[in-house]
Amino acid sequence: MLDHSATWDGLPAATQALIVTNTTVGPLYAARLQQALAGRFGQVHVLQLPDGEGYKSWDSLNQVFDALLSHACDRKTMLFALGGGVVGDLTGFAAACYMRGVPFVQVPTTLLAQVDSSVGGKTAINHPLGKNMIGAFYQPLRVVCDLDTLRTLPAREISAGLAEVIKYGPICDLAFLDWIDSNLEALRRLDPAALAYAVRRSCEIKAAVVGQDERETGLRAILNFGHTFGHAIEAGLGYGQWLHGEAVGCGMVLAARLSQRLGLLSAQRVQHLSDLIGRAGLPVRAPRLEPDPVANASRYLDLMRIDKKSEAGQLRFVLVDDAGAPHLQPVPDALVREVIEAGCA
Ligand code: NAD
Ligand code: MG
Repeated sequence: MLDHSATWDGLPAATQALIVTNTTVGPLYAARLQQALAGRFGQVHVLQLPDGEGYKSWDSLNQVFDALLSHACDRKTMLFALGGGVVGDLTGFAAACYMRGVPFVQVPTTLLAQVDSSVGGKTAINHPLGKNMIGAFYQPLRVVCDLDTLRTLPAREISAGLAEVIKYGPICDLAFLDWIDSNLEALRRLDPAALAYAVRRSCEIKAAVVGQDERETGLRAILNFGHTFGHAIEAGLGYGQWLHGEAVGCGMVLAARLSQRLGLLSAQRVQHLSDLIGRAGLPVRAPRLEPDPVANASRYLDLMRIDKKSEAGQLRFVLVDDAGAPHLQPVPDALVREVIEAGCA
């Protein structure tokens, strides 16, 4: 599909385009995309960045600007982000900045990017002192999900993407959660019809939430279900130890337990969600960050307080209930400690 010229019908005309990708995805798909775009743009350049979260950096961003300027690219130049969330976030931010904004298209090639990061217009790079700290809200002209590209993705990355698919169920669509439950094995073996539905429904839900609250002044925060615990796991273990989706999967189990402790969610629903996350190939027990239980819970609390979502040190969590509705509320530290203690391996 990304190699069909018709996929790109209707994009505004420009003399130049730049495909930004990385050294893993580029060799697999860049030439095919370049060829499909060749008839529409005078020149289609390709920039391959190194692969990895560590390259979502100022230095990589500058490489995009170097490429654009050295080819004398004008304000109509279109950027194509070909890759996972790292390439998508960085390319989107480059597009937001170059000449105060040039059009860009997302061509996500990971499940996580197809169901989450390519939709919604959050773009960013990392700062040595914090992930995603430098960025902009900037919407892509179009998002093109070619499901066939997922066939080259490692199984562990598929599971990580499934965490973000599962996330949409408990926060607002229990029918979708049931559908995932019935189709999980099909999704894991990349059954085309199951994947197509999961990607479409995920994007619909995300677009509906973002459409009501683009700048995350309220509702959009529900998309962070499982992420407060998840970010603590990622930061506590050191980025790259667990994939983001793995940390979010485990984080959803903890957030569900917290919801249960507050009387919002039944034990049966917590167990069901935990089982589903396990079946998706994701961890359900949180890693111990300190041997001593009290020190361990304190470490988690400290890490969660640094997270962008906390305000004035008060921890707020996305909780869910039996009716499939989200609740964004502060929770006393003592309860959070209990849940961490019970949920750690
Ligand atoms: P990623 O971009 O690092 O991709 C994961 C790995 O898969 C990489 O090694 C990549 O090269 C490889 N890969 C990508 N497509 C492939 C393919 N088709 N075949 C083989 N290998 C392939 O990670 P990700 O999980 O896609 O994205 C994570 C990033 O997304 C993080 O930086 C996170 O902050 C960001 N994110 C952003 C948003 C948002 O709203 N903007 C939301 C969620 C996550
Ligand atoms: Mg996420």
